Amino acid sequence: MAVATAWDSAQENLEEAAKIAGLHPDVLAMLKTHQRVFMATFPVRMDDGSLRFFTGYRIHHNHALGPIRGGTRFHPEETLDDMKALSLWMSVKNAINGVPAGGGKGGVICDPGALSDAELQRLCRAYIRGIAPMIGAQVDFPGADVGTSSKTQSWMMDEWEQMHAMRHDPAAISGKEIGIGGSEARAAATGYGVMLSVRETCKARGLDMTQQTIAIQGFGKVGSWASRLIHDQGAKIVAIGDVYGAIANRDGINPHELFDHVEKTGKIPGFANAEAISNAELLAFDSDFLIPAALQNVITEENANDVKAKIVVEAANGPVTPKAANMLIAKDIFLVPDILANGGGTTIAHLERVQCLCDDFWSEDEVNKRYEGMFIKAYSEVYQMAKEEKITMRMAAWVQALRKIERAIIDRGWI
Ligand code: NAD
Repeated sequence: MAVATAWDSAQENLEEAAKIAGLHPDVLAMLKTHQRVFMATFPVRMDDGSLRFFTGYRIHHNHALGPIRGGTRFHPEETLDDMKALSLWMSVKNAINGVPAGGGKGGVICDPGALSDAELQRLCRAYIRGIAPMIGAQVDFPGADVGTSSKTQSWMMDEWEQMHAMRHDPAAISGKEIGIGGSEARAAATGYGVMLSVRETCKARGLDMTQQTIAIQGFGKVGSWASRLIHDQGAKIVAIGDVYGAIANRDGINPHELFDHVEKTGKIPGFANAEAISNAELLAFDSDFLIPAALQNVITEENANDVKAKIVVEAANGPVTPKAANMLIAKDIFLVPDILANGGGTTIAHLERVQCLCDDFWSEDEVNKRYEGMFIKAYSEVYQMAKEEKITMRMAAWVQALRKIERAIIDRGWI
């Protein structure tokens, strides 16, 4: 029997949500396909003088809600199937977060860590020339993702402008360096949304955020920002871990001091005033909130029954498997789904495009304020629907998103 791919599972999610949303069969059929799937093979000169050919993709799932938005992944195990699944998820994530954009994804099969800076820059430029027919500020504005960064995004934007006779067009690429049109709020974006998820969940459920205890797995771009911002709102980080191990202290761990420690030593273990615990103990820690912010599939059928937290906020992509999610819900654990909790990156990339289109650049506070308004609206719509229709937050988020996309498809007269 063939192994189910990421695209197979994405379609299963879609079909399940489509049933509850009462989606028109023609809309469902449209969303089970991609509007455009583009593959380009392009040469890149290596530092040793040899010429290597790389394969890159750009996928447009559906542009009913607006131009395509989604990241670019540089990874050796990248597959077309993964990108097809991720682009559908981006359609749903953009729709639920109120981002007027369709879903897309792209990437190059490569190991960026094995390339010199000069090779990486030539690869970024060749990729943009390769996928040029698919992109542009009004068509598709790719952002950063796994293996790409503000540096790669800046080179890509420069290549795009050079291809167009130096026509100023920073809105064509998001995630750039701040000095050339990037967002002041980009670095903390996803962590900021995770903090808002905790804060809005407390508000919705009548909890005092300053009395909440939090366990977090992951202290990278998402976890380190989320933990610091949550701590700054008064909640107590009681357990936290990274790939090297985890630590706990019931009196609280100061994530700002932990950040300095990790900057110096490269890892969490060894931080003063906390006891070492295993990663399994971290996930089973007796806290109010558990925030998996590291990897996918960390809470599974094997360990879901060990989870003691009352609320789980999915900061990583897919950290709770569908079967584990059902087990958590059966234990009355409230789950804030990834498409809502980690939508900060895509929303702030959309706001970066808005600023670039009008050459009007906002402070970090101003960007965050706009995102906050969008997030509160999205969260309350999902929360209300989950409550009224007695469905999970994950299902409510998908149903809301699919209904918005369906409306746009009908309004455009596509079906
Ligand atoms: P990152 O690479 O910056 O950090 C990952 C963290 O997880 C590190 O602290 C690492 O030590 C830890 N980790 C890795 N393997 C682990 C393991 N086996 N056990 C425990 N900890 C482990 O990554 P990131 O950008 O923070 O992304 C984290 C998750 O959030 C991923 O699922 C990513 O897809 C998702 N996400 C990220 C963004 C973003 O803006 N960066 C946006 C949306 C979703």
